[in-house]
Amino acid sequence: MTHVVDLRDVTKSYGDSVTALKSVSLQIAAGEMVSIIGPSGSGKSTLLHIMGTLDRPTSGLVKVVGCDVGRLPDRRLSALRARRIGFVFQQFHLSPGLSAVDNVADGLLYAGIPRKERRRRAVNALEQVGLGHRLEHRPYQMSGGEQQRVAVARAVVGEPALLLADEPTGNLDTAAGSEVLKVLHDLHDAGTTVVVITHDSEVAQAADRQVRVRDGVVLSEGSDQR
Ligand code: ADP
Ligand code: MG
Repeated sequence: MTHVVDLRDVTKSYGDSVTALKSVSLQIAAGEMVSIIGPSGSGKSTLLHIMGTLDRPTSGLVKVVGCDVGRLPDRRLSALRARRIGFVFQQFHLSPGLSAVDNVADGLLYAGIPRKERRRRAVNALEQVGLGHRLEHRPYQMSGGEQQRVAVARAVVGEPALLLADEPTGNLDTAAGSEVLKVLHDLHDAGTTVVVITHDSEVAQAADRQVRVRDGVVLSEGSDQR
């Protein structure tokens, strides 16, 4: 079976005092949608950073989209991250001076695609998240939900194998959060592997599988495991 994420006995310590992840093993299959839930400080973001190759483990094996992260030098790791992994965070991290379409097109800067083609793909991605009518809007001219959908479009415009979202609805009201959740589901239906960290039980339960984290340990997984 192809695993997009394969973690074996992964430990992550910060200094001598904090062990944020303790011997975590977790496999995520291609095409799955998985939610990660757990109290604040339990290690969820650390887990996402390691799956996203933003951080390296203290020990253990990390394979992402088939690559053994521990064997890749930083430069190759950055390339892997830019081309194969999309990120969405609680804060939208949009460039305030850029239109929606330019914010999304920036997601392709590393792919060596000409400007005009970047723009064409950005328009497509914005249409996919229901924002075809907001192409030239700046972030301040959009609602929080719309801004987060721009951020999702930017994350997926390069068609990553893995989409990682850390509390993507955390700054949104219920209605806007539902819209963002629907977009994540549409992407999953279209074949993207999606991992979403959430406090929201509605968001969590909508996934195929729930992974519960507490004190740096993966406790249990939902019954719909493949
Ligand atoms: P969550 O996302 O579940 O709230 P985190 O993964 O952010 O949890 O944090 C897990 C633990 O690791 C917490 O105790 C946190 O204080 C600690 N931690 C996270 N990042 C760092 C860091 N860069 N340096 C030191 N400790 C950290
Ligand atoms: Mg967190």
